[in-house]
Amino acid sequence: MVTAIQAGRLVDVDAGKFLSDQIVLIQSGKITAVGPSKGVGAVSIPDGATVIDLRNMIVLPGLIDCHTHLADGARDPSGDPLGYLKKTAAQVAYESVPNARVTLEAGFTTVRDVGVYRALNDVALRDAIARGDVIGPRMYVVGAYVTITGGAGALTGAAPDITLPWDMHYGQADSPWEVRAVIRKLANQGVDAIKILSSGAVLEHGSNPNSQEFTEEELRAAVEEAHSFGLRVAAHAHSAKGIKNAINAGVASVEHATMIDDEGIRLAKEHGTYLDMDIYDEECIEADARAGRIPMDFVAHDHDLGQIQRDNFRKAVAAGVKLSFGTDAGVCPYGMNAKQFAFMAKYGMTPMQAIQSATANAADLLGHSDLIGSIKPGKSADIIAVANDPLADVSALENVSFVMKEGVVYKSK
Ligand SMILES: [Zn+2]
Repeated sequence: MVTAIQAGRLVDVDAGKFLSDQIVLIQSGKITAVGPSKGVGAVSIPDGATVIDLRNMIVLPGLIDCHTHLADGARDPSGDPLGYLKKTAAQVAYESVPNARVTLEAGFTTVRDVGVYRALNDVALRDAIARGDVIGPRMYVVGAYVTITGGAGALTGAAPDITLPWDMHYGQADSPWEVRAVIRKLANQGVDAIKILSSGAVLEHGSNPNSQEFTEEELRAAVEEAHSFGLRVAAHAHSAKGIKNAINAGVASVEHATMIDDEGIRLAKEHGTYLDMDIYDEECIEADARAGRIPMDFVAHDHDLGQIQRDNFRKAVAAGVKLSFGTDAGVCPYGMNAKQFAFMAKYGMTPMQAIQSATANAADLLGHSDLIGSIKPGKSADIIAVANDPLADVSALENVSFVMKEGVVYKSK
């Protein structure tokens, strides 16, 4: 069974240009050939192939969001982790099913899901999607937050005499050896990456974005231990010091990177560290704050940080730091991921750079450039299409008309 896509225009994200009148052949979920419909190197459509006519469309590789929380259940506008005390793990898991579907339907065929409050729910969702039991993007997951006690990834705010269930403190660690022990547990559970919380957080009680939390020694232990299992490390960090500690420790990406300073930008460039900056979701935090839905301590944490992060994103783009696309989906409602593209363009990226951050660059960060990130023979047939030209206005990606993952069409309108 061969499927042939006729693409009016195709975005070659590796070369950074449009190709016209292309044919993409797909077999067993993989791309087998890409080329022009006529002329030199022409690809012809074999007899009996299923033909998908996207001649009026712009065809792109499936998008990749490197920072989501799909397995955290129904979005709680308050963002208050204490809400998890009111739900069973199974409830959270079933609530996550639509999160996965709307994300795929928005054109995101792969996500790196970087943390859950009920440990290993993400592993279960990843596997359910891979089996075909649940519709959603290909997931790379971290299993749990590796966090200090009372830190950015801990379930904080409960009274000290409440005993939390095992899966609400699975990733807690307070020394280099405890960090290593947690990573060994996670590796054994089949996670794809490690998420460590280098600095404090915004949407968390008793933690704040200016604090450091893990020491550089603990971060180095995390990276070394993760690497011994072939796993890369994503570090949450808002504070300048927390960001630099994470980069110096050798993490693959810094998440948020809100208060990165000039030295941090220089270090990221020198180490080839990706910055995964969620510069859209401030819109949702502010809307929820205006509506009085967010706890007041969270609003205080967030003060001015949105604009600081956007200004620092602009600096990072200008400095030529590697940038990947990550939205912190769950802070905003699921399926709105593509809203961030227009903000990336507003704060200094070309539309092509913004597209590359969510395709080729994201695949590189995840270590899966052989499988995803561009439309090339041998890669997974993860393909989307939009009606309007995203290189003229990148917000065109907010309206994805066609979604294929691993050769299966999930959306076509
Ligand atoms: Zn996050």
